[in-house]
Amino acid sequence: MQRSKALRPPLSTKRRAVTKMAAQKRSVREPRPVLEGVIPYDPKYLPAEVMISANENPRPVPAEIQERIARAIAQVDMNRYPDPLANDLRTMIGEAWGYSKDYVLLGNGGDELLFNIALAWGGPGRTMLTCPPTFSVYETNASLTETNVVAIARKPDFSLDEQAILDRVRKGDIDYVTITSPNNPTGGAANIMFIKQLLEATDALVMVDEAYGEFGGESMIPFIDEYPNLLVLKTFSKAYSLAGVRLGYIMAQPQVIQEFIKVRQPYSVDAISQAIGEVVYENRSALQPQIDNIIEERDRLAEELAKIPGIKVFPSDANFLLVRIPNAGRIWQELFDRSILVRDLSASSGLEDCLRISIGTEQENDRLLDALGDILGRSQ
Ligand code: PMP
Repeated sequence: MQRSKALRPPLSTKRRAVTKMAAQKRSVREPRPVLEGVIPYDPKYLPAEVMISANENPRPVPAEIQERIARAIAQVDMNRYPDPLANDLRTMIGEAWGYSKDYVLLGNGGDELLFNIALAWGGPGRTMLTCPPTFSVYETNASLTETNVVAIARKPDFSLDEQAILDRVRKGDIDYVTITSPNNPTGGAANIMFIKQLLEATDALVMVDEAYGEFGGESMIPFIDEYPNLLVLKTFSKAYSLAGVRLGYIMAQPQVIQEFIKVRQPYSVDAISQAIGEVVYENRSALQPQIDNIIEERDRLAEELAKIPGIKVFPSDANFLLVRIPNAGRIWQELFDRSILVRDLSASSGLEDCLRISIGTEQENDRLLDALGDILGRSQ
């Protein structure tokens, strides 16, 4: 039987070899020079039984919500483009905070919106202020868009160097600031009195990244009408158990949102993600017990880890803990040998000997505690 054209291999092996030889004489022009120094983001995801490396919610959305999601997906007209701006979800999120939909913009994960900040407020000749150690994506986006980076390092306890930040923005050359609260990977939330002071000290766009805001710290969203230079970023990936769906959003005054609409990809939030997001956001109160459990487990894990000699635990308002532990690279390997995956940050500047541990289920956290007790007990 004649195979349909679509199923036939495009070239025979022999012809492919000939084509390859001819191709060796050809070349491709260099991409933008800036790419030479760019290292692609690597989540360092490896399969393991206990996945506590990416700050995900360890539990899926509850079964009854999953059923509603399945029904909502069945209604999606997949032959049609989605609503470019996900207006139903925008309206829902805006209303929950007392704003119109014009204050909200959805994105393909918070990551897309972080790139859009660099596109809209960064660029050649422009400058971002960031406070490392923090989420590395801000700097990658700055490099990609040829934005200058001013780094004001956190203090040894990983709190923000508030005075240094205020002094720096007062020079007037900063175009946007990233404040991560709670901060990834160090865990602590910023003080909202300080954020207000910062917003008053500069006209730079201040992006407060609240990706972990449901686990601690106070949200800046209620203050959006007071500050035209405030932008808050949130995600469905952490508290709402939807890391696989890719949904995030920003909230800011409508004139700021309008600028983001200019740089975004028109259909970045697909119809299925919109349908899922609507169901989950509508039913978000059903996720609160999971969030409460993560917070309780975080506090228990912090207390138990601190009892293990050699481990320093940094205080956390998020769904993960940063720990300092001698020979962190070796400990990471020994945990991985026991099928427990945590994030090894020991090669990052300021995070020497640090591991980041996402909060898992009770059983996962117990397994981590047993493994660490075992590994460190033996190496004493
Ligand atoms: N901000 C911070 C601080 C994060 O840690 C992450 C995810 N690791 C994001 C934003 C983006 O998350 P997502 O793209 O999954 O919404």
